[in-house]
Amino acid sequence: MTTAQPSLTAPDAAGGPQDVQPTPLALLLLGREADPRSERGVECPGDLPSPSDPDLVERARAAKEKLGDKVFVLGHHYQRDEVIQFADVTGDSFKLARDAAARPEAEYIVFCGVHFMAESADILTGDDQKVVLPDLAAGCSMADMATAEQVAECWDVLTEAGVAERTVPVSYMNSSADIKAFTGKHGGTICTSSNAKRALDWAFEQGEKVLFLPDQHLGRNTAVRDMGMSLDDCVVYNPHRPNGGLTAEQLRDAKMILWRGHCSVHGRFSLDSVNDVRARIPGVNVLVHPECKHEVVAAADYVGSTEYIIKTLEAAPAGSAWAIGTELNLVRRLANRFAPEGKEIVFLDKTVCFCSTMNRIDLPHLVWALESLAEGNLVNRIQVDSETESFAKLALERMLALP
Ligand code: SF4
Repeated sequence: MTTAQPSLTAPDAAGGPQDVQPTPLALLLLGREADPRSERGVECPGDLPSPSDPDLVERARAAKEKLGDKVFVLGHHYQRDEVIQFADVTGDSFKLARDAAARPEAEYIVFCGVHFMAESADILTGDDQKVVLPDLAAGCSMADMATAEQVAECWDVLTEAGVAERTVPVSYMNSSADIKAFTGKHGGTICTSSNAKRALDWAFEQGEKVLFLPDQHLGRNTAVRDMGMSLDDCVVYNPHRPNGGLTAEQLRDAKMILWRGHCSVHGRFSLDSVNDVRARIPGVNVLVHPECKHEVVAAADYVGSTEYIIKTLEAAPAGSAWAIGTELNLVRRLANRFAPEGKEIVFLDKTVCFCSTMNRIDLPHLVWALESLAEGNLVNRIQVDSETESFAKLALERMLALP
C-alpha cells in the first residue's frame, strides 16, 4: 500500500519557494518512514567504540599497522581532522578513486568520504579489491536528489518533446553509480568541478543540448561563466513537477537542461555573505567552489574546485586575506596550515557549515571498520553490480579521454 505523501514548501536553490514531495530519505530523516532501497539508517553490526574512549587513536593506529599493505585509507578533503590523520592519501573524490586503483596490492580500500565516492572507487578498482565505507549512513544530499527512476522519467519527457536524440547527458562525479550508468548508456560523460568546461565542450560537439545532472549550480556556472551562454539558455528540470515543470517548447529552446539538485553545504553561501566579508575585511579575496549559487560565483574573485582552492592558497602572498566558500573542515585545516605563512583565511559564511554526512565518518566508525578488517571481518562493503559498473565505467572512461 502506498501512503499519500505530504507536500512540503522548500526554498528553491535558485530563488523562490517551490512545492516539493518529500523523498524517502527526507521521510527517514524526519523519522516517519524507512527507505528499504537504501542502506541509510543501518546500524553498524557489532560494537561501535565509545567516542570518549581515550584509546581510539592508539586503536586505529594498531589496527592499521596490523593490516599493513592490505589496507589503503582514503580521506576526502572534507573529512574531520581526527579521521584525516589516518588517511594514506587525501584529495577530491575522483583523485582518491584513481589513487585506490593505483594500489592493486591493497585488498581493502577504506573510503573516508560518502557513499557515491565509495561506489566510484569500487567501479575503478580491481574486482579483488573491497571498498569499505566506515558508516553506511554517510550519503550525499546532492547525489540523493537524482534517483534512477526520476532520471529515466526525465528522459521519457525529453523523448516525448522530441529532444532526447539531440541531448547528451553530463553527470557530475557527485552522483550515484546508477546515474553514472544512465549517463554511459546514453552516450554521455562524467565531469568533475575541475573539468566541467571540457566535458561540456565535448558534449556540445556530440549534440545540441546537455542534460546536466545533478548539480544545477555547477552546470549553470560552467555554461554562463566559462562558456559564454546566457541564463536564458538554461532551464531547470524539477523532478517533483509533471514534465519537470517545463513545456516542450522550453525544452526545445534550451541549450542546458539543468537537474534541480544542489549541494546543501555550498548552496548556503549567499550574496550577503560575500558583501558582509568584503565590508569586514577590506581587500579580502573571495574564493568559492562552483557548487555555489550563480550570484555568489558572479560576485567572487576566484572560482574553482577544492584542488584549485588549495593551490591558489599555496601560491598566495604573505599578508593576503582570503574568504573561502567551501566545506568548513577543509577551510579550517587550510587556515591553520597557512597562518604561520602570514595568510589570513576565513570561512565565507558566519554560520557553521560542515557537511553533516561527511562528518558521519568519525574516529569510532573508523576504528570499528579497521579493527573488524584486522580480525578478518569484512564490514560495510560497497559493491556496484556488474551491469551498472560497466555502463558507469563507460561514462568515466569518456571523461578520462576528454581532450
Ligand atoms: S559537501 Fe555537498 S556535494 Fe559534498 S558530500 Fe556534502 S552534500 Fe554532497
